[in-house]
Amino acid sequence: MLALQEIQNRMAKASKTAGRKSTDTKLIAISKTRSVEEIRPLLESGHRLFGENRVQEVAEKWPVLREEYPDVKVHLVGQLQSNKAEEAIAHFDAIHSLDRKSLLKALAKAMDKSGKNIPCFVQINIGEESQKGGCTISETGAFLQTVLDTGIDLAGLMCLPPSKADPVPYFALLAKLAKDNDLTGLSMGMSADFETAIKLGATHVRVGTALFGPRTI
Ligand SMILES: *Cc1c(COP(=O)(O)O)cnc(C)c1O
Repeated sequence: MLALQEIQNRMAKASKTAGRKSTDTKLIAISKTRSVEEIRPLLESGHRLFGENRVQEVAEKWPVLREEYPDVKVHLVGQLQSNKAEEAIAHFDAIHSLDRKSLLKALAKAMDKSGKNIPCFVQINIGEESQKGGCTISETGAFLQTVLDTGIDLAGLMCLPPSKADPVPYFALLAKLAKDNDLTGLSMGMSADFETAIKLGATHVRVGTALFGPRTI
């Protein structure tokens, strides 16, 4: 698949410029709203890491694809309601949107029940935007401690910077927060800014449009 190759090349170039190894950053293909037919070419090209933002959609699309490609991994990158925690644990291999105590409690309970301990990124509301989810910057340290206390596998931090702003200061701040808290995982960067994110230390970039084309819905 051409778009996949192009993104991989651009990622490799950005890594090189930053003096990082290309294997330091994973590409999460964001397949929300994309049909099974649109996803399949990526799987056929060997890509195995995907991201979705709705539990219901994953439950509909991925069971059949997982049967064909058992080594596939699907990460949740969207907001999660606590009452869907159990379903989320059943369908996802990692969560990038852990951002509050009520959800932490629900996830811990669901993981306990299922015996599945999946890695979680704590989402930070890096632009302090009222309409966005995410732990506030000032509460980050305390919330991370609470997460660690529950025994959940803390993978790192995630952010979605304000949509029209220069992402550099936000990515840099997320990297600093991670470093201050001894975390290595950084889920940041999308179609428009994944190269910038790689230069600032991203370990996971979340790319949708640049892989699949503009969204029609
Ligand atoms: C949709 C989405 C992406 C991908 O965005 P593109 O601009 O299409 O690459 C990344 N992260 C999150 C949380 C998303 O919801």
